[in-house]
Amino acid sequence: MPDRLPTDVCLLCKQNLADKRASHIIPKFMTKGMLKPSRPGGGNQGFIMGTYGKRRFAVVQDTPKQDYLFCTRCEARFEKVETYTARKFFSRFRNPAFRTEFPVDNRSYYDSNNADIMRLVNVSRGMMRLLVYSILWRASVCSLEMYKHFTLGPEVEEILRTELDSVLTDTEPGTLAVCDTYSNSEPTFPYVMLASAAKTDETGNMIATFNLENGRALILANEFMMQVFLDGQVSPSASGFNIRAQCPEVGLFSPAYWRSFVGRIARTAAEHRAGNMGLDA
Ligand SMILES: [Zn+2]
Repeated sequence: MPDRLPTDVCLLCKQNLADKRASHIIPKFMTKGMLKPSRPGGGNQGFIMGTYGKRRFAVVQDTPKQDYLFCTRCEARFEKVETYTARKFFSRFRNPAFRTEFPVDNRSYYDSNNADIMRLVNVSRGMMRLLVYSILWRASVCSLEMYKHFTLGPEVEEILRTELDSVLTDTEPGTLAVCDTYSNSEPTFPYVMLASAAKTDETGNMIATFNLENGRALILANEFMMQVFLDGQVSPSASGFNIRAQCPEVGLFSPAYWRSFVGRIARTAAEHRAGNMGLDA
């Protein structure tokens, strides 16, 4: 796919010129745990991305980013959702001081008895949905090498583009106000977010994207795994799918199960390096 040019039109609003340079596909705060100092005591200078299976690691300066995907305004609209979710969820949920904001229900979750459901009682459902949709959508519409095999397809891309363009505003209060209604709407596509119940050195260090045969799109982003169910084929009463829950829900795997789960993804990725996935740099 050809590189984008500053004379191209923004992929989100389709109105302004795509003047923004260096757009990240996955927000930096989700991958900052992948930072690795280049020398002891040194600053953060690179990420490790690779597979556990083949021990193929690539140290890079940053997660992949691309010029001229969006206009400055649309990039800022994404950032409002990222700033909110980073502050309200990602920076807090492993901090014991905020435990009451993230109660965990010990109930089983779709195809596994190894996951609990964490409820994000102080986080907007709409904002979390927008974050997940925006990441999946950006990975699909960008033309970066590492995401080139990942696609939602033109129809789903346009559905999500229209939705994101209509819900994202220029301010956090503005988007939260829209979310008053948006949060209560049936999600266009059910999604799950999964993480390990406890963080270890082996928890992350990998970005991988997959189109699964069963109508799911999956992104592993360091500590978090996101899946969107493009054909909507999930039980509406199941927990963890963020369909009719009162607040956003995140599935927590035991550290051992998470390790085996990520290991399976890494092995699959290693086996299909040239195939249906994007991995490392
Ligand atoms: Zn735009």
